[in-house]
Amino acid sequence: MKHIKYLLLRRTTQISLMCLYFAANAYGWHILEGTFGTSYLFGTVPLADPYTTVQVLATGFVLGTDVLLGAAIITVFYFVIGGRAFCAWVCPINMVTDLSNWIRRKLNLDKEEVNYRFIKRSARYWIMVVGLLVSAFVGVAAFEVVSPITIMQRGLVFGFGMGAAVILTIFLFDLFGVKNGWCGHLCPLGAAYSIIGSKSLVRVKHDHVACTDCMDCKVVCPENQVLHMINKESISVTDGECTNCGRCVDVCNDDALEFGIRQFVKN
Ligand code: SF4
Ligand code: SF4
Repeated sequence: MKHIKYLLLRRTTQISLMCLYFAANAYGWHILEGTFGTSYLFGTVPLADPYTTVQVLATGFVLGTDVLLGAAIITVFYFVIGGRAFCAWVCPINMVTDLSNWIRRKLNLDKEEVNYRFIKRSARYWIMVVGLLVSAFVGVAAFEVVSPITIMQRGLVFGFGMGAAVILTIFLFDLFGVKNGWCGHLCPLGAAYSIIGSKSLVRVKHDHVACTDCMDCKVVCPENQVLHMINKESISVTDGECTNCGRCVDVCNDDALEFGIRQFVKN
């Protein structure tokens, strides 16, 4: 159980949230209504995705104070618990890309020759900026039109149509193309949450005295460039790209990694 503790917690959270959105649509429940773009918690607390909100603002549309308040609530929440905790604990696409990643490891597809490196991880930040520019130019929140996250959420709540092809494309791209291709290289929402969480308090901490340099954490980490301190220094993972998924904590047999409050000084 120790080795899948955070995996089970994440899947429980992701599936529970989707069930609540489904129940709002099917049974009129008022616990969580809407989409990841804009929602209401218990019919009163507004929640809004910050990147979606900024895209809409870029179009020139004047947003209501409830949406702005909702974006502020979500921004503060992820600023504290880790921006990309949204990715690992909430976003339904994560279940698809995690599955691709798992199959890649099982099929030993992580070898260099089947991991085409023609896309840099920084591409997602450029796509994020382009999404805002296109939104301003065409007057529509551009990424929302094509977002696989929205497609996946709508598919799970209302049923899949042609949108299933988009999800399948991401699955195959991550499986046979670029390792962690979509979430780790392209997704502008993940990029926005990386920025929001770049100074977050909840972080994985590394104990280099306990570490035996097995590198199991680097094998399972979807953003393993953030684990540059392994067996070098006892310090928190500080990069915003860390998704706080807890895979590294789950897999570490030496208890050299654990969640904690961000360390601002080295031991
Ligand atoms: S990177 Fe994008 S698609 Fe992937 S989990 Fe994060 S928000 Fe979802
Ligand atoms: S460092 Fe750990 S918590 Fe962060 S993304 Fe990698 S495996 Fe997940």
